[in-house]
Formats: sequence, C-alpha cells, structure tokens
Amino acid sequence: MCSIFTAAGENLGLTTVVIDAGHGGKDAGCVSKDQKTYEKTLTLDIATTLAGKIRKAYPEVKVVLTRSDDTYVTLDDRAEIANDAHADLFISVHINANEKTSPSGYSVHVLGQSSNKNRDLFANNMEVCVRENSVIMLEEDYSTKYQGFDPSDPESYIFMMLMQNSHREQSLRFAEEVQSKLEGGPIKVDRGVSQDPFYVLWKTSMPAVLVELGFISNSTDLAALRKQSGRDDLAQRLFEAFRDYKKFYDESLRFDGGATEPARERRSRGEAAAENDGTVYAVQILASGRPQNDPSIFMGYTPMVIEAGSLSKYFIAVSDSREEAESKLPKIRRKYPDAFLVEIRGENVVPLR
Ligand SMILES: [Zn+2]
Repeated sequence: MCSIFTAAGENLGLTTVVIDAGHGGKDAGCVSKDQKTYEKTLTLDIATTLAGKIRKAYPEVKVVLTRSDDTYVTLDDRAEIANDAHADLFISVHINANEKTSPSGYSVHVLGQSSNKNRDLFANNMEVCVRENSVIMLEEDYSTKYQGFDPSDPESYIFMMLMQNSHREQSLRFAEEVQSKLEGGPIKVDRGVSQDPFYVLWKTSMPAVLVELGFISNSTDLAALRKQSGRDDLAQRLFEAFRDYKKFYDESLRFDGGATEPARERRSRGEAAAENDGTVYAVQILASGRPQNDPSIFMGYTPMVIEAGSLSKYFIAVSDSREEAESKLPKIRRKYPDAFLVEIRGENVVPLR
C-alpha cells in the first residue's frame, strides 16, 4: 500500500472489504459428528451477517462476499475476487475441527512464518493449514492450476512460510483487534493469534486474516454455533473489530516516506532538537492532512508534531541517539505498523531506511 492521499490531501481510507465465507458447495468443510452441521453453512451465515452489519453502518464502504450462497469457490478465485476488488482488507471466516472432542476456542491467523522460531514447522497449526488448504485437491487439475502446490506435502509450505508479506503488520493489527473482540463471546477459549501458511492468505495482496470461530468437534462450541444468537454475536464481534480497525486505518494517514514531501519543514513543537548540532532521531508514526485531536489515536504517547506543508507529522521516541530511537521501533510498530525511523536535522525530516 503506498500513498493514499488525493490531490486535496484527503485520506481515502478503508473503502473496500472482502468477506470470505469458508468452503461451500461440494466442499462442506468440517462436519459435526452427527453430520447435521456443516462448516460451510455456519461460515456463510456469519459472513453474510457481518457483511450486512458493515453495509448498514458504512454505506460508503464496498463490501464484497466471495460467495453469497452454497456454491463452490476455489481458493484462487477467492483471492482473485479480493485482488480484483482492490480490497483494503480480507476476512476469511472458518470453523475449526479436531479428531478429539476436547479442543475448543477461536484462533486468528495471518500469513507468515511462525513467530516462535523454536516451533516445529509442522506442529501446532499445520494440521489446520493442511485441512483448510486441502480444498485445492477438489480441483481435478490442481497440480497445474496451483503450480505444483500440494497441500499434503510439507515441502510445499516452505516457500509460502518464507514469503515476505508486506501486509503482515497490518494483518496482525486487525487479527489482534479480532482476538480482543471475541473475548467474552459465545466461543470461550482464546487460542491466540498466529502466523501460518494459509494458501488463501498467501494469494491475497492486502491485509488479510483468517479466523477459526470455534470447533465443530467440541460440544460447547457447536451448541453456540448452532444458535442463531450465537452466530449473530460472533458476526457482531467481527463487525466491532472491523469498525475499530477502520477507524485506526482511516486516521493513520500514511505516505511514501517523505521522498515527495517538501524538503523544508517547520518544527512547531518539541525542544529535543535544540541541543547539539540540532540533530535528533525519532520514530514517525503518522502524517495527517488534518490535525489529529483524538488522544486515542496516540495510544498513550504524547507525540512531537512537525508541520510540513499541508501535513502534520507526528513523532515519538525522540532522542539524540539513533540507537535509542531505533531500539523502540519494533515495539512502536506493534501499534503503528507503518512507523519508521527518521533523522530530524534543523528544518529537515529525513526517513532512515
Ligand atoms: Zn475451514
């Protein structure tokens, strides 16, 4: 994602979301032990309810469903729908299952390498990935269509795991939003946010999250999922995650790092640069075309503001030591995915790569 300013400096914000109801048609997904409940039915119900809620609250937002009835859609087609729509966010809704009846709870997944380096590549969520990706094998010509990707072959995952995903930070942000909103809901156990090689997430070129809303194999989760009120509650929680992420997204106006910005900038506040030769280092968290007065945007930080042309730029972790400012960057990026290190010298703000 690059600059999202129009000529007038207006933020275009989050304008298109794609909601993906997992499975469908000949692909039932997980099935309850009594064969009465299919994952594909639950995901469609929750996805369409979520879509309705977003459309009602944000008539200006384009909401696209990858399917709106019981039809089979390939994983490639799902990703293509999202890419063609130039979606700003992709939400894939699934229900989990296990051979045992005890596992329960919700989990949220973004594409990526496991965040725990010691974790066995094929332990933990790999079983879930293999199952969710196995729909590929329903395609008769899958080996040509998916360029040799075999969902049952561990080696097929290596490349996907190592792929650099430029949307990982934003995906993680939305995933954490989903995780926190699901807390206290009809599915009780929080199984956390993790980075895993889901094919459909790999193929989408926007922030993308896959959520597993409980286990069809667990009686408590299944009872909640069978109730319309339970599914509506889950859709409402996903909606609230969307709402808060959209708010953050729309207010965190990002730009291309300053290359096209005016070189001369006027510092309106902040004394840190006064000493030495006036050079300080900081982390830029936002650049906005309009003043940001809502303290919640700054999440407890009190940023230094520099006016640059029509933009207000916001900096935190201001220090005369580059190392010190840089050391705070990873933590800051958890909250501000697009934050970057800058050098502030006299009147100039220079992004450091
Ligand atoms: Zn699924």
